[in-house]
Amino acid sequence: MSATNLLELTPETFIDFLKQHKINKFHFVYDAKENKIVSSHNELNEIAEALPNHKDFSNHEGLFYELDRDYDVLHSASVHRTNRGQAAGGVRFWHYNTVLEFITDGLRLSKGMTHKNALAGLWWGGGKGVIAHNKTLDKYDKKIREKIYRNFGRFITSLKGCYVTAEDVGTNVNDMANIFTQTRFTTCIPNEVGGSGNPSVPTARGVVNGIESALNFLGMGEIEGKTIAVQGLGNVATPLIGFLFEKKVARVIACDIFEESVAKAKEKFKDYNFEAYVVDKNDNSILFEACDVVSPCAVGATLNATTIPKIKAKIVCGAANNQLANPIKDDKLIFKQKILYVPDFLVNRMGIVTCANEQYGYVTDDAFIYQHYDKEWKHSIYATATEVFKESKEKNISTGEIALEMAERLSFENHPIFGHRGEEIIRSLVEI
Ligand code: NAD
Repeated sequence: MSATNLLELTPETFIDFLKQHKINKFHFVYDAKENKIVSSHNELNEIAEALPNHKDFSNHEGLFYELDRDYDVLHSASVHRTNRGQAAGGVRFWHYNTVLEFITDGLRLSKGMTHKNALAGLWWGGGKGVIAHNKTLDKYDKKIREKIYRNFGRFITSLKGCYVTAEDVGTNVNDMANIFTQTRFTTCIPNEVGGSGNPSVPTARGVVNGIESALNFLGMGEIEGKTIAVQGLGNVATPLIGFLFEKKVARVIACDIFEESVAKAKEKFKDYNFEAYVVDKNDNSILFEACDVVSPCAVGATLNATTIPKIKAKIVCGAANNQLANPIKDDKLIFKQKILYVPDFLVNRMGIVTCANEQYGYVTDDAFIYQHYDKEWKHSIYATATEVFKESKEKNISTGEIALEMAERLSFENHPIFGHRGEEIIRSLVEI
């Protein structure tokens, strides 16, 4: 079987292959000294050989996988870079058509976490968990989920702390509670067991900071008197709109795919200049409203070659993850269009910020959290965004690219106490 074949297999066929070769657990680890990838099994060397050519590989320190024999589900932990601390990032539960898609999501998302964490000044590296869902299972069955997430927790424990997990798409608060029964290497656990709870309100506050920074940079003044269009009326968008009205925004236009969400928001903001309408899931027309700021707070990839040319607003700043369908091309396109784009991974950091340091305990109005809203702190959302805009203008380079460059630089700074310990943990795991 060639490398292309292995990567092109469906997860189900790949699982058969693993069983046939009696492989339960496997890894690919980057040996920086030798500049090569060490594979745990000869049978899987072909994947190791293909990895350096993968666009998102970017010298990931370690990729770890385990077959969950209870339900034929694949668990994974991708550890990208751990100079700033243990690799931190949520666990996604998703269905993949091929092994390549499964591996790619882990690589792409863990690299993204390195950048998000570093740009936020957090002493955490970047990593991501991905569980490949087995389509024959009812993923809403409580018992099945409990077992899968407990098994995932045990898998994370076996990695000795080089990766610390959290909540992500497809994973809920009960799943996090199940993970927590099996490992200490998790954050985003429920309030009842000492976790930080839902981070949507802090995330919304962060978006307000991003908008303020962009308005100020363009000399457009404050939020007061502006018109803002918001895509989505969910957990982040709703408090965001509340904050905007507190700051005397002139008008908010919003939409959602669910009638109920629109009706709820209309009721909540009935005393304000608020309009909302229901859209089809492929309808991005909210982005083309005549307004000052567009705030994507629904799903990813809404900024693309079709939508960007129709945007009339001068600023795009929202909470949604992966807003640019093509992070390189669309970033350049939006820049060319003279729209000030506040990179999503810069502005939507508060989710990871509120949960990453959970184990250090809580204080009211926590200074460690609030500094992210402080204009003066060098890593705050406002200050970082301003720095990105300035550098982007000076160098005539898109904001996304500048933010990435900054994040890359920061991500190589070693943790002030533990140094590059994640790499040591990986070495002790695989003895290279
Ligand atoms: P949510 O699921 O509560 O809200 C999203 C809303 O968007 C839902 O009401 C949904 O019906 C709506 N929607 C989906 N497709 C749409 C479309 N095509 N047009 C209009 N509306 C649509 O999610 P959330 O927690 O509010 O998060 C919003 C975005 O921000 C997501 O991309 C999420 O990954 C990202 N994000 C959230 C947090 C957080 O703290 N919650 C942190 C970082 C990033």
